[in-house]
Amino acid sequence: MTLSALFPAISPEREAELLASVPTGLLINGQWRDASDGGTFDVHDPATGEVLATLASATSEDALAALDAADAAQASWARTAPRVRAEILRRAFGLVTARAEDFALLMTLEMGKPLAEARGEVTYGAEFLRWFSEETARDYGRYLTSPEGKNKILVQHKPVGPCLLITPWNFPLAMATRKVAPAVAAGCTMVLKPAKLTPLTAQYFAQTMLDAGLPAGVLNVVASSSASGISGPLLKDARLRKVSFTGSTPVGKRLMADAAQNVLRTSMELGGNAPFIVFEDADLDAAVEGAMAAKMRNMGEACTAANRFLVHETVAQEFTRKFAAAMGALTTGRGTEPETQVGPLIGAGARDDVHALVSAALDAGAVTVTGGAPVDGPGYFYQPTVLADVPHDAAILGQEIFGPVAPVVTFTTEEQAIRLANSSEYGLASYLYSRDFNRLLRVAEQIEFGMVGFNAGVISNAAAPFGGVKQSGLGREGGTEGIAEYTTTQYIGIADPYVG
Ligand code: NAD
Repeated sequence: MTLSALFPAISPEREAELLASVPTGLLINGQWRDASDGGTFDVHDPATGEVLATLASATSEDALAALDAADAAQASWARTAPRVRAEILRRAFGLVTARAEDFALLMTLEMGKPLAEARGEVTYGAEFLRWFSEETARDYGRYLTSPEGKNKILVQHKPVGPCLLITPWNFPLAMATRKVAPAVAAGCTMVLKPAKLTPLTAQYFAQTMLDAGLPAGVLNVVASSSASGISGPLLKDARLRKVSFTGSTPVGKRLMADAAQNVLRTSMELGGNAPFIVFEDADLDAAVEGAMAAKMRNMGEACTAANRFLVHETVAQEFTRKFAAAMGALTTGRGTEPETQVGPLIGAGARDDVHALVSAALDAGAVTVTGGAPVDGPGYFYQPTVLADVPHDAAILGQEIFGPVAPVVTFTTEEQAIRLANSSEYGLASYLYSRDFNRLLRVAEQIEFGMVGFNAGVISNAAAPFGGVKQSGLGREGGTEGIAEYTTTQYIGIADPYVG
């Protein structure tokens, strides 16, 4: 009997029916088709290791065919009325929302997150479609008289041109909508390469965009078992004008180097190492609640995941006790089970990496308060874990854990907390807990992070500019800033008709 047969909430028939409805080909110029060499790759369920689907694996030739289509569609798409583009996005929002249960189940199946969380991602991911449908018609230029009065200055925004969008496996819908929606809003055409571990949601989303009326060639999708086989030829091709990447910092650096050859616009949403700082005047119950959200969303497999818990020495014991009790009470299982709160990690390698970090921390003097080991059985599960007494120089504090593990470190003064928070090459999300608003603002001024949560464990929002500083990346997604990543500025100088 398969594991899925054990869970009556989602029947195997329902899973099979949904999987059968996901396009398995490459989307090029509005048509789903096979790879040029007939190649395929399998997508697995990380809770069971079973194959969910087999997709066409794009070759370099297919990637160039996708760029041919994007390039051919660019001029007419750029001229499409903003209102028309806005209406397509609004219809796509409606369709994703109507298909929310399908999207949620697909994400749970291919990525492992519990269904309740997957539903949350559908809401979050769909919101980019609605937000950018609203932004489409409000991308203003300007017209002014030059200071010396001799010229008029006209400034307009134009679509940057065909874009390569590369997305990671951890948020299969939201990472796609966060790029596709502003590109559509700005009038850009696209080649989307989803992560090979979780491409099914992107395939289903692309079909949804077609159903919403997106013209052929505007969005092309080339899932592939060879990521560099797609990005390599595209980044060399002068017709491509931009690459927007979300993923790890090492891959982002490589893509930036390759993008330099043609001086491409780049948006880079890279890794994080979020500090979660609990000051002595914090509401500890609220901090524990926030810590659970900031740590355990996506089983800790999030760039915004709280990675380092910096807790004032006078409250560290109480915070750690309450936090460990909450972590230890979580139910681990396949995401389709109604009671599951913690799903599997994405693969065996990911689970081994997490355990190696935990083991090294214990060797360095940390102690396990709860968890600390992989879970036996099929799938790649790891126990929700809290480590205390973690030394300031432990390796686990220096890199993304990407798993359900919370190292707690104590500090004595505000200055020390700030220094510890900033001692990372990353600068994406950060979380501060205190009842003193002046202190929160004072610390926010001094920490080097693109995003700061005040007494809040989840801060992502389609209306807010998401992004990092330092090696966490370049550019912002969402907010009013998001559309600017896909436009270029043109200035037109006009001789003033009244000045000779
Ligand atoms: P990854 O860098 O391994 O892969 C990301 C994407 O890049 C995938 O589509 C992958 O196929 C592709 N890729 C891999 N090697 C490539 C290459 N040589 N050339 C071109 N493309 C290549 O990252 P991942 O494991 O999928 O995702 C986890 C990472 O993403 C973490 O570091 C996480 O912090 C980061 N992330 C960042 C954000 C953000 O917004 N800042 C959001 C989610 C995830």
